[in-house]
Amino acid sequence: MSQSNQRPLKVACPQCKTKVEWSEQNPYRPFCSERCKMLDLGAWADESHRIAGEPAMDEHNIEEWLARAERGDDR
Ligand SMILES: [Zn+2]
Repeated sequence: MSQSNQRPLKVACPQCKTKVEWSEQNPYRPFCSERCKMLDLGAWADESHRIAGEPAMDEHNIEEWLARAERGDDR
């Protein structure tokens, strides 16, 4: 079973889909780099910040969105 031990596990970076080795030497795993890790965390933080910061669940927006979805023309 030494063969499987020698083959490094590869994962796709969630941010840029680059295949990276899942190893102790990669502190940013499953990301390929610090940049991708930060980008992903940043996107996540930005989203939660937006939800907390302003009323994203505006009733008028939802009704408009639903009406548009029913009509099937979102263009
Ligand atoms: Zn990446």
